[in-house]
Amino acid sequence: VTADVAMAEELARRVAVALENASLYRDAQAAVRLRDEFLSVASHELKTPLTSLKLQHGLIERAVGEEGRERVRPRLATAMRQVQRLSALVDSLLDVSRISLGRLTLEPADIDLGQAVRDAVDRMEEVFTQAGCSVRVEVPGPLPGRWDSLRLDQVLVNLLTNAAKYGAGRPVLVEAAFEGEKDVRVSVRDEGIGIAAEDLPRLFGRFERAVSERHYGGLGLGLYISRQIVDAMGGRIEVESRPGAGSVFTVRLPRGGR
Ligand code: ADP
Repeated sequence: VTADVAMAEELARRVAVALENASLYRDAQAAVRLRDEFLSVASHELKTPLTSLKLQHGLIERAVGEEGRERVRPRLATAMRQVQRLSALVDSLLDVSRISLGRLTLEPADIDLGQAVRDAVDRMEEVFTQAGCSVRVEVPGPLPGRWDSLRLDQVLVNLLTNAAKYGAGRPVLVEAAFEGEKDVRVSVRDEGIGIAAEDLPRLFGRFERAVSERHYGGLGLGLYISRQIVDAMGGRIEVESRPGAGSVFTVRLPRGGR
């Protein structure tokens, strides 16, 4: 399983690098088409071994029996964490592929933004605990609107993950509120490492990361995907930040769904 994970991870990395290289030739239409096609095929291809790995994981767990399970459990758990990491990565690549092919579709439904925020924060509890961050949610009351709940959740989880990751273990504040009659606003505020002014304009680009923070690990796709989702919903995403003081990411969305 470990060898499979390493191979799949290496493949995923190559996809990312190839995509980055191809995008240097952004003007050449053929290169762009090739890049999009490659990304689509490669990310779909990566899905298959991952599904098989998850299945095998379950089979191994059952096959080793009660006694063996105690011995191999830590390793199985590690393998599963790696598989989940890869799954998230492949899902990101698939999203990038969908975006570049213009196939990011939304399915708006009536939901409550406040509830969506609380749900996302609840599910992230362990991530915050591990990062040593406390998190506070401030929502004034129901915030009904029409949004694609999975895609909205994806944006929230991305901003929350970043707040935990770059938040230097300090408190995180998540606020949601109406903005005028037609819009809502969600902000995620951390008091962490912050972002240098010269990096701010690039952060929402594909594979872009703050120059000074390479040692944190990550592909630089979360904010790109989040921005594309928010754009598709007819909203806007913005960041204010000061190095050493922290960052606030704010998403504004119209309530009448797209
Ligand atoms: P990733 O975190 O996987 O690198 P993202 O697209 O989510 O990718 O973020 C892009 C970059 O923006 C990060 O690499 C980091 O440099 C910077 N960044 C994002 N959120 C924060 C934050 N809350 N505080 C400081 N830097 C951040």
